[in-house]
Amino acid sequence: MIYLDHNATTPISPPVLQTMMPFFQENFGNASSFCRAGRIARAGLEEARACIAAVIRSSPEEIVFTGSGTEADNLAIRGVCRAFCGRRCHIVTSSIEHHAVLKTCEDLEEQGTAVTRLPVDSRGVVDPDQVLQSLTPDTVLISIMAANNETGVLQPIEAISGIARSRGILFHTDAVQAFGKVPVNVDDLDIDLMTLSAHKIYGPKGVGALYVRKGSAIAPVLTGGSHERGKRAGTENIAAIAGFAKAAELAGKNLAEDAVNMAALRDAFEEQVMQRIAQVRVNGRDAPRVPNTSSMSFASVDGESILLHLDLKGICASTGSACATGSAQPSHVMRAMGLSPMDAQSTIRFSLGRDTSQGDLDFTVRVLADAISKLRHISSTA
Ligand code: PLP
Repeated sequence: MIYLDHNATTPISPPVLQTMMPFFQENFGNASSFCRAGRIARAGLEEARACIAAVIRSSPEEIVFTGSGTEADNLAIRGVCRAFCGRRCHIVTSSIEHHAVLKTCEDLEEQGTAVTRLPVDSRGVVDPDQVLQSLTPDTVLISIMAANNETGVLQPIEAISGIARSRGILFHTDAVQAFGKVPVNVDDLDIDLMTLSAHKIYGPKGVGALYVRKGSAIAPVLTGGSHERGKRAGTENIAAIAGFAKAAELAGKNLAEDAVNMAALRDAFEEQVMQRIAQVRVNGRDAPRVPNTSSMSFASVDGESILLHLDLKGICASTGSACATGSAQPSHVMRAMGLSPMDAQSTIRFSLGRDTSQGDLDFTVRVLADAISKLRHISSTA
């Protein structure tokens, strides 16, 4: 199998699995228990917290573990609105966010919160000036993702967080796709709330974290215990959290080297595809991007049909967000970038990983060229 769907998820790396194993077995205790087993679990939990904090340069007590990136996005957005409860709230976000943000904002909107969804330009980038212009006296939160999951396009986070800071508004960024691929330092970037997820960085599924800058107004969404300093009730999944921390540590260590290698492979892959196949658009190519992601639209061909051809040859890719797979709707990200519904439906996301080789990509180009030629031939004779 040639796996080019690392933005959907990654395999657990062997050292991560090794770190997790003791917490399933001999160190199975509950971190809230006073007994010896509990103290060992608590030590594992706090070690993991310190490790993730070190990677993003925060204090350990600013890390809140959650059950996923989706939950961390919910906690950030709902939690801020709940903290401001009784006051009219306005949130500024973008039209290209992950559904964990978009659907949460939609839900809050139905309950009376005002929401502004900013457009993006044809490269998929939010304009900080538009953020500034959208603010109202009721704005309590700006939530703009760090890197888009479909295109890999990086957003001008520093400029936007500067605007938020100057107006005393909280700034949240969903950094699920940026973390481990580009440096995300909460102080340099002046971020108040930041979402992370383990399974995109060779950690386990079902664990995430929200960075919450000390003093930020945020109320819990889950109630039922005083875990995570009262910000997220529920017994901590220590094995997953320890694995998450190990994955973060490794990603941090290898980041510069991985980024250079992957960007070189990805760029050469795009060049080859454009040389071999006519009428290809590389989405977001002129914008800063994370190094592993390539989103391409192939005119007059259905994306799902391309995926089927690739799959038959053992190549895994996707049409966009894994969460939207199976949806008949064209990608909201592609539509926001100005693609027609048809072009949006003809888009494939290739996302490379640490083990992706030149040989994998050469083979993928050959299979892709063959598939597109066949599919275009079929549609021209239909
Ligand atoms: N945010 C972004 C940008 C994502 O790409 C994803 C997952 O694809 C999520 C949030 C959700 O993370 P999780 O799968 O941990 O719930």
